[in-house]
Formats: sequence, C-alpha cells, structure tokens
Amino acid sequence: MPTVTRREFLKVGVAGAGAVAATGLGFDIAVAESTRVKQNLRIAGAKELHSICPYCAVGCSLVAYTRQKSNGTTELLQIEGDPDSPVNEGRLCPKGATAMQLAISPRRVESPQYRASGATGWKSVSWDFVLDKIANNVKASRDASFITTDGNGSTVNRCEGIAFAGGAAFSSEEGYFATKLMRGLGLVHLEQQARV
Ligand code: SF4
Repeated sequence: MPTVTRREFLKVGVAGAGAVAATGLGFDIAVAESTRVKQNLRIAGAKELHSICPYCAVGCSLVAYTRQKSNGTTELLQIEGDPDSPVNEGRLCPKGATAMQLAISPRRVESPQYRASGATGWKSVSWDFVLDKIANNVKASRDASFITTDGNGSTVNRCEGIAFAGGAAFSSEEGYFATKLMRGLGLVHLEQQARV
C-alpha cells in the first residue's frame, strides 16, 4: 500500500477543500472552463479561405475565416497564418498579423488619393482619373527623357526618366507582363520589392 507523507496529505487536503468551497458557492470550475472554451470558438463553422500576405516577398500564407450574415453580406471573422504552409507554418510577423486591418480598419483608405501640384491636402478621386493621370505622366516623362543614341553614337532607344518597382505579391504572370510592358516603353530601371 502506497504511503502518503504529511506534506502530500496537506496538499491534497487544501486542493480538495478549495474545490468543495467553489462548488458549494454554486460555481462549478469544470463547467465554467468548458463554457469559456466554447465562447472562444467564434470561428466555429466559418468558411475558410486561403490567401497570401501582401506585404513582403516572404509570401506567408494566410487563412481568412468568413461567415455569411443574415442580411446576405459576408463578415470577416479572423485572419491568421496558415499552419499547412511550408513557408510560414502558421506564423506571421507583426506586420502580417495585422492583415485583418486591411479589411476592417476604419482608417483604411478606400479610394485613390490625389494631391494636385501646390495643393495643401489630398482629395479622393476615381480610378479613371488616376489611370489617365498616370498615363499622361508616363507619356510626358518618356517623351522628355527618351534617349535614342548614347555618347558613342550607338543606338540604345531607352527611357531613363522612369523607374518601375514590382510588388512582392505579383504572380509569375503579372511579373512577366509588367516587365514586358516596361521594357516595351524602353525602361532600364526595373526593380522588385523582393530585392529591396
Ligand atoms: S507575414 Fe511578415 S514576413 Fe510574412 S509575408 Fe507578411 S510581411 Fe512578410
């Protein structure tokens, strides 16, 4: 028969008395604990969608949990690292961990902003306005900085007045397309966020 020391006996006695006291007050620790766990499962039954963090070239995988609301809209419940990803194995850096703010932050900028030359503030403008503005500026810069021959008289046909930086979240096809377009304009200064 196992022997119990005086110290062990006292430890068991104190723990048992605490549990009895809590139950006696109408507070069942086991039930309280299970209720707490149940309440924390706010993603239970949510739809799971997979994506990539847009911030840097590491390309960590994300899981977004969404739920359909009764009014037909979709509610974003949570974004976290994808444990199945060989890249981040469920982890995210502090920046990626705030990815949900991209969707729900009240401070999110939801339309292009434009500050005219000499203006003191930004104003919201349409995407059409911005695309026209960019196209006009590219044309003007290219016309002003295009070089057909270098100092030795060799034909170069290049544009040195514009630089282009690709995003780390580009797919291979987007990267190929962007490079083709920029080379077609004669750009020589091409960079990628992955190397910055
Ligand atoms: S979570 Fe951090 S390290 Fe991973 S892709 Fe996003 S910014 Fe880069």
